[in-house]
Amino acid sequence: MLYKESRDLSAECLRMVLPIISRNGLAANPVNYTVCYEYVTGINPKLKQAFDDLVSKDELDDHAMEQLYLLHVSPCNIDHIQSVEDQMGAVLTDVSESVREANNQASFLNSSISNCRERLAPNITMDELRSVVDGLASDTHSVKMANEMLQSQLSATMREVEDLRQELDKARMEALTDPLTGLINRKGLADALEQALAEYAHGSPQPICLLMLDIDRFKNVNDNYGHLFGDKVIRMVAKTIADNIKGKDTAARYGGEEFAVLLRGTHLAGAESLAETMRLAIGRGKIKRLDTGGSIGNVTISIGVACHDGRESALDLIGRADAALYASKESGRNRVTVAP
Ligand code: GH3
Ligand code: MG
Ligand code: MG
Repeated sequence: MLYKESRDLSAECLRMVLPIISRNGLAANPVNYTVCYEYVTGINPKLKQAFDDLVSKDELDDHAMEQLYLLHVSPCNIDHIQSVEDQMGAVLTDVSESVREANNQASFLNSSISNCRERLAPNITMDELRSVVDGLASDTHSVKMANEMLQSQLSATMREVEDLRQELDKARMEALTDPLTGLINRKGLADALEQALAEYAHGSPQPICLLMLDIDRFKNVNDNYGHLFGDKVIRMVAKTIADNIKGKDTAARYGGEEFAVLLRGTHLAGAESLAETMRLAIGRGKIKRLDTGGSIGNVTISIGVACHDGRESALDLIGRADAALYASKESGRNRVTVAP
């Protein structure tokens, strides 16, 4: 279960959430409720910090709440990951029981040996000695059998753990991947950005830049050529973006026809020139219609670029790159704007 709070505790949370929603003039919608719920329970420390940050700057509104939800309340397939984790927990419990059983066997052998020692009196007869040795041999044999069984149980368990581990890796990967383009999704980008900022905070000198990209007049593409064709355009744009990055850079599908690129180790001038390269490459792309096979007019993209100022939060950096993207749209589209 994702939320483990009891009925009483969750009711208490409800009582705490409502004043937050009303005090901040937020809509009482499920997104805002979920964010506030995770905030008051304290189960999501990153969300809590970003939330407090927004409150201190008096910037908490419905838009900011949606950003918090998308960035910090995982949209991924938590249930599946949770169930694999639960299975993993059950397997580990089995292992610890096997270890306890092996310990019991060792104690049994130990007491059997002590018992023999007591029976080994100086005047012991041959028959008594034979019986002591037989007893010891039989106990050793049964411990050996038990150990062999444990050994094979343990090997099976280890194989099971390995399978589960691979399944978990796959589920985590799928949860962070956008199925249409194969790029990472918004949650994946949030994780990569958090990691980059954490490394920066721990002394990494690499500059961090963020590009936000949005296809121009994409609604017209869907309206004129259909949604399937629209998907093809999104894949083409994603591929062009991915083809133009390298190394530690990360490209993500941020939303419907929006993308984000995280650049690490690239200064602002380099980020701007890369954005320009991407814009030109996408503008040059020829995309064939699904029905007639003829080309459609060029698809263009607007881009906003921001370089991390060394102090700001992930949300602030995204906000600045977004504002620069908005400026590109406002000033005519098909252009790159650098955030001040
Ligand atoms: P602007 O230049 O201002 O960005 O205009 P726009 O038309 O691109 O922006 P708007 O936000 O009005 O429309 C975005 C459209 O993208 C609307 C939505 O139907 C479409 N869209 C979102 N996700 C997908 C998708 O996965 N596939 C397809 N085919 N269309 C999508
Ligand atoms: Mg858009
Ligand atoms: Mg658009």
